[in-house]
Parts: sequence; C-alpha cells; structure tokens
Amino acid sequence: MATMITGECINCGACEPECPNNAISQGEEIYVIDPLLCTECVGFHDHEACAAVCPVDCCVPDPNNVETEGALIARARALHQDVDFSENFESRFRKGAEKPAAATATPKKAEAAQPAAPATPPPAPPPQSQPSRAPAEVEEPAPAFVELPDIDSWEIPVRCFKCGESYTSRPKHFTIGNVLWCPHCHKSMVVKDNLNFQIRTALKEFYDKWECDLVEFQTRREKELIEFRARRKKDLDNFLAQQKRDLQATKNRLQNISDSYDAPGRPARKRSLLGWG
Ligand code: SF4
Ligand code: SF4
Repeated sequence: MATMITGECINCGACEPECPNNAISQGEEIYVIDPLLCTECVGFHDHEACAAVCPVDCCVPDPNNVETEGALIARARALHQDVDFSENFESRFRKGAEKPAAATATPKKAEAAQPAAPATPPPAPPPQSQPSRAPAEVEEPAPAFVELPDIDSWEIPVRCFKCGESYTSRPKHFTIGNVLWCPHCHKSMVVKDNLNFQIRTALKEFYDKWECDLVEFQTRREKELIEFRARRKKDLDNFLAQQKRDLQATKNRLQNISDSYDAPGRPARKRSLLGWG
C-alpha cells in the first residue's frame, strides 16, 4: 500500500527530505507522493519516514493502492541498483521482529572486474547519507486535550437547607422559579434570580475561557512549528548551497590540474621573439 498525503497537509515540507526514494514533491496545492517511487520505506526503515515527521499526521496508507512487501522491496532494489539490500532488510512489515543486519546501503560488487589497482586508489566516495531522523519534538503525538464537558452534563451541587444533605441537579433545572426537590427529605427549594445568575455566569465564563485558551495555545504552537520549519529549511538550503559550491570548486580544481599538466611528449609552447607571451 503506497503512502499518500491527505488534504490536511500544511505544506511545511518536513517530509520531502526524509524520503529515501525522492518520492515526495510539492504539488499544485499540497505535497504529493509518487506511488511509483514510494516503497513505504521498505528497505530503509521499519516505518514510513514521511509519516514519522509529519506534524499533522497526513501521510497515511493509501487504501486504494495495497502492495505486498515483496513488491515494495523489488521496487526499492530497482530504484537503488547500487545498494545491496540484504535479505534481512528494514521493513515496516517486520517491525518488532529481530533487528535487521547493519546498514544495507553499501555499494554492490565494488571490487568486481576492476582493472589493476593503481598504487594509490582514489578514496572511496562516502555512502549517501541516510535521511536524518527528525528531532523528537516533531514526532510527538497530537495532544490529547481534556474533553470539554457538554453544558447539560454538569452536575451542580445543591445543599438542602432543611436536612443539610447534598444532591446534584443539571443546569437546565436552575431556571428562575423552578423548584428543586431534596431526594433525602423531599424539601422543595425555589431557584431565585441570583442563583440562576451565578450559575449561568460561572458556566459562561468557563466556556469562554476554555475556547479562548485553546485557540491561543494552538495558535502559539502552530507559529512555533512554522518558525521551526522555516529555520530548518533555511539551514538545509544553506547546506545544499555549500555542497554545490564545494562540488563546483573541486571540478574547477580538477580541470586546472588537467589543463596545467605537463604531460611527457606534450609540444612545448612557442615563445615570442622577445621571450615573453
Ligand atoms: S513512505 Fe517512505 S518511501 Fe513512501 S513517500 Fe513516505 S518516505 Fe517516501
Ligand atoms: S510533513 Fe505533512 S504537512 Fe508537512 S508537507 Fe509533508 S505531508 Fe504536508
């Protein structure tokens, strides 16, 4: 079952760099996953890396695209032909089973059919680094907020002025002029306007504050998350730019070495009559 991104995506971009298959990209409105590239991280992780970092849990299994582990590892092998996936590869299908062997992303048949080794072989390229795990705070589950009680579910305590016993009654029974009956001594008690006012005010203030606090809390958290993502993206952009600069600098350097190499048999450059140029 390929992974898909639902419409709840907030375009934070956190999932894109986590995908070992480059299956995630920015779509017209939200990020999208190419099902022909997604392997549900089989071969690389025992979980879906995009789902692990998504702050709104919108990377979910696509129920219309169910695939077997065999099909997924075959896709991973086809996509990464330079990677030797052992039989004990990472897979969400095997989560909880014995830990797979160490990193599988090693170049395949590195030494096969090589010409005679030079005296000083060039350093082997470092393996492509695996996507780093997201900071722990990104993976925290959605908060389980305390459930807001329905207004009719409140049990409002009443103390009987005659027998002194306590009982409870629902808010709807505290209308002005309504009669409450003590279940212990059966004495009646009339609800007057001040009692009605105090209960209405207490409940209204509670619900207003609850709503206000919740909105403020979620707005603050959302803002912090956006700022965190922006910092992370900027950091990544800087890193990628540095990598490109390093790559280009080394290409230039190699070109200079090649251009300036005084190979045996290379025709000497003609000098001008005056000895310069
Ligand atoms: S499940 Fe894994 S392979 Fe599929 S899109 Fe997410 S990160 Fe990429
Ligand atoms: S991590 Fe989730 S919310 Fe962020 S871009 Fe990816 S799918 Fe969308």
